[in-house]
Amino acid sequence: MEVFNNLNGLFKFSILNGFPEVLNFVTTKQNPYGFGDNFNIGYSGGSDNETLENRMSLASALGLQPENFVIQTQIHKDNYKIVTEENAGNGFLTKETAVKDTDILLTNRKNLCLITRSADCTPVLLYCPDVKAVAAIHSGREGTFLGVAAKAAKLLKENFGADFSKMIACIGPAIGKECYEVGYDCAEKFFKNPRFSDNTISKKGEKYFLDLKTMIFNDLTDLGLRHENIEKSEFCTKCEDKKFFSARRGENQRFCAGIMLK
Ligand SMILES: [Zn+2]
Repeated sequence: MEVFNNLNGLFKFSILNGFPEVLNFVTTKQNPYGFGDNFNIGYSGGSDNETLENRMSLASALGLQPENFVIQTQIHKDNYKIVTEENAGNGFLTKETAVKDTDILLTNRKNLCLITRSADCTPVLLYCPDVKAVAAIHSGREGTFLGVAAKAAKLLKENFGADFSKMIACIGPAIGKECYEVGYDCAEKFFKNPRFSDNTISKKGEKYFLDLKTMIFNDLTDLGLRHENIEKSEFCTKCEDKKFFSARRGENQRFCAGIMLK
């Protein structure tokens, strides 16, 4: 990841630099210009006015309008929505207008910026240069267990004819493998599923830790995505307390990742 052009408060994925037809970004606690420390894009952790003002600032900094955005209310499952112009602006002005109860948004339409919100859960962006389609995915612990990112990749193939070997995947800032401690019951659920290899579940003393980003990476490469076409952010949202919101630090605010075909 690298700083987004001249906007110090935003990051973008370096792997998409060769594709000027795609806009992508990840927000931080700072506003796009690099100021402040509470740039909350979520629907919680602040007043409706504050969070709307932040979404307006984001749109303005990116040169976009409210109707360019499509935001979902996320429920830690693998429901999806194929987004069209009918969804333009969903979730931007109010939560009530968001795409309901999905964790995957995908589209092959231009000028619709798909948003996924996070605070420790993993934001994942997919781009298919062969068929010009994109997806934004919310992959927390439950979503990762369900393989929500791989499901999105399959949906891009089924609906738009995308080739896995050409697909670009961006695995965003999320709670890291050193910090994501879970209880035995949770670890056992992952242990019992052969999809999750030993190197994504670790035990230190009596504590168990999950490596969600590597689980997502492995699911995508198992499907046929190429290692060199996947960028995995090294940022741990719990450690990087100046940059990202973290639910494990008790924060209710959200940062977001977005992707749009220009
Ligand atoms: Zn950490």
